[in-house]
Amino acid sequence: MNTQSDMIIVGAGLSGLLTAWRCFDANPEIEILVIEASGRIAGDHTWSFNLTDIPEHLNDWISPFIAYQWSCYDVKFPKRERTLEIPYCTGNSDTLRACVQPHINSGRLKVLLNTKVTKIDSTSVMTETGRRYGAKCVLDARGFKPNDNVFLGYQKFVGHVIKTVEPHGIERPIIMDATVKQFGGYRFVYCLPFTDTEMLVEDTYYTDGPELRRQEIDARIKDYIRDNLGMYDYEVIQREKGVLPITLAVDENAFDNDRDWSKREIGIRGGFYHAISGYSLPDALIIADIISEEISEGFEDYPENPFKNIDTIFPAVQIGHFENERFLRLLNRMLFRAAKPEGRYKILQRFYGLSDGLIKRFYANELKRRDKVRILIGKPPVPVSKALYNFSEKAFIKRERAARTQNQ
Ligand SMILES: Cc1cc2nc3c(=O)[nH]c(=O)nc-3n(C[C@H](O)[C@H](O)[C@H](O)COP(=O)(O)OP(=O)(O)OC[C@H]3O[C@@H](n4cnc5c(N)ncnc54)[C@H](O)[C@@H]3O)c2cc1C
Repeated sequence: MNTQSDMIIVGAGLSGLLTAWRCFDANPEIEILVIEASGRIAGDHTWSFNLTDIPEHLNDWISPFIAYQWSCYDVKFPKRERTLEIPYCTGNSDTLRACVQPHINSGRLKVLLNTKVTKIDSTSVMTETGRRYGAKCVLDARGFKPNDNVFLGYQKFVGHVIKTVEPHGIERPIIMDATVKQFGGYRFVYCLPFTDTEMLVEDTYYTDGPELRRQEIDARIKDYIRDNLGMYDYEVIQREKGVLPITLAVDENAFDNDRDWSKREIGIRGGFYHAISGYSLPDALIIADIISEEISEGFEDYPENPFKNIDTIFPAVQIGHFENERFLRLLNRMLFRAAKPEGRYKILQRFYGLSDGLIKRFYANELKRRDKVRILIGKPPVPVSKALYNFSEKAFIKRERAARTQNQ
């Protein structure tokens, strides 16, 4: 294999492959090498999102990735049930592989599997066997990595895809069924009916720590399917689990100073996920589009090095992302630190009483000032003293750092 490429992307997961795919569509000249530690590209996942989280100009492009789409979905709480008229979509590993396969066939996308990268700089990577690959531009899409300047809670879940003997009768997704018993944090069950007889049932917890007790959760999913969905005759055909970072605070100054901007981190590794949902698909699409646009302009303006602009845009995009999520982090501190674990659902119960438009803007992280006021005013579902205590991000970080030092 040629060891010099236009671009190397390390990690053939969601963000790496979406970026490659977008760059190919917009730039007929580019050739990309993707290096992946596992034995296949795109893993074995489903990725869901509100269609309204995606900028409209990307809707046509992303449509081949979408495997299932619903026009609305339900949420359920002890004191609220509601259908939201927000289109909901799911893509998966098969559709993602199909999107990039033509570029693999044409030879523009080269894939190196079972290859772990151990060192990355802006123009080369080193594998664990000591082989070096060079490129005009390297992107790091290796998935989540903890960061001392980012303070987290966790969304963890176990999912079973079930195949029922009779049609299950669930017509649209239930994004949150929080009528279930609460354990140690905000708990809800998520149901995604792929077909009349196939459905993902996922038991989810917003908790302070990342430990996942898989067997206990497996048993609760079984109980939910029997007691809440009234189904007995089914088999589990697939299982998944996840522990996603939920951002409570970011020390933005330290982050900017410590950051090595020559490392161009995309996807969840670069912090590009929604602070509250932990979902990264919309950000991955947006970043893929920005990178591809910059390269297109680069081919026009600097044909000798079309990747010249990438270095300049990275700090701006990443700093902008963290600035833009300050309000979401405040809400997370209310959820995780101001509310009692078993009472966290009340915050979401209240939130889902707000308008469809506000909820759409919340997930797209496009809240207006008046939306933020609407979210915060009214009878608070958390004690006021605890809310005030956790209001300042700076003070929160100071306390967290002190606690970390004490625990060391
Ligand atoms: C079970 C689960 C369900 C999720 N569901 C959703 C959802 O519905 N919607 C949503 O928006 N988000 C979802 N997420 C969150 C997030 O979108 C995903 O984790 C997403 O896959 C992150 O994309 P990524 O490209 O950053 O990382 P990944 O998709 O994890 O890709 C990283 C890739 O890098 C490879 N790699 C790692 N280290 C190396 C190395 N040293 N050398 C070479 N390759 C390496 C890995 O093998 C992997 O293929 C889910 C996460 C999980 C775990």
